[in-house]
Amino acid sequence: MTVLHPDPVSPAPAPPAAVEAPGAPTDATAPRRPSLSPSRAADFKTCPLLYRFRTIDRLPERKSLAAVRGTLVHAVLEKLYDLPAPERTPEAAQQLLAPAWEELSADPAMTELFEPPAEGEAPPPSLESWLASAGALVESYFTLEDPTRIQPEAREQLVEVTLPDGLLLRGFVDRLDVARNGALRVVDYKTGSMPREAFEAKALFQMKFYALVLWRTRGVVASQLKLIYLGGSADALTYAPDEEELVRFERTLQAIWSAIERAVATQDFRPNRTRLCDWCDHQALCPSFGGTPPPFPAEAAAAAGWATLPLVERD
Ligand code: SF4
Repeated sequence: MTVLHPDPVSPAPAPPAAVEAPGAPTDATAPRRPSLSPSRAADFKTCPLLYRFRTIDRLPERKSLAAVRGTLVHAVLEKLYDLPAPERTPEAAQQLLAPAWEELSADPAMTELFEPPAEGEAPPPSLESWLASAGALVESYFTLEDPTRIQPEAREQLVEVTLPDGLLLRGFVDRLDVARNGALRVVDYKTGSMPREAFEAKALFQMKFYALVLWRTRGVVASQLKLIYLGGSADALTYAPDEEELVRFERTLQAIWSAIERAVATQDFRPNRTRLCDWCDHQALCPSFGGTPPPFPAEAAAAAGWATLPLVERD
């Protein structure tokens, strides 16, 4: 296991003031408004045009077998913790795979992934071998944690907070553990391999995001952020944020949000060509690949609340 920071249990600081926490009364008639999630923030940092295509145009994207396998493994690990602690065995986890797949495959887009490919495309794996690969990832989970000794407080938990400047942060935490002394551990499952050092920062961005939202809502700095990588030689990465770091991270998110607001106000989302473009579904509409984006969907953006946003200048 890689530990990036000592793992103290931080004393709970006073809750930061003037934040709207989940559970606060909400006005059902309030207009919709945009929010920032770790993945959408990462999109904008990677390529502003990709952010526009996904978040504002909401263009459809193909599902990948790897992404669907990730969804399946997450579903199994979530359901595993529905079982009484002594029954959370590797065998029980394997038995959860078939019903979890049955649920997922109610969506025709899932089963289409296994249909014969168009001419010239590589054939997909058989459903059996693909399910076996998901089973191997579930099995590797047991090399990293003993679920009979863990009682999560929450799984697949929506966490959200509105910062004093109006920025709404939202995301889903895979698992949240709370110790008897109130210490928080945020856990995220990844079905890929542990990233090389250069990519660790990207993985931790998501975890710091959750830590910030939890700190702002509960007044407790998570004592551990834990990323569990089930692919390759399964491993875990843990990290202990501190309050100052979360304050700096909040400023980073506010700067990203200011840049997004500016791009919406000017309808100017620049492409940023990198090797990640190889995985982008929108090359045909991207100027970096000779394409032309569709006209900016101003009405859809207004309906999603973008038009209500003031353009705020920040330091
Ligand atoms: S192809 Fe690359 S540059 Fe173009 S939208 Fe996609 S990620 Fe951005």
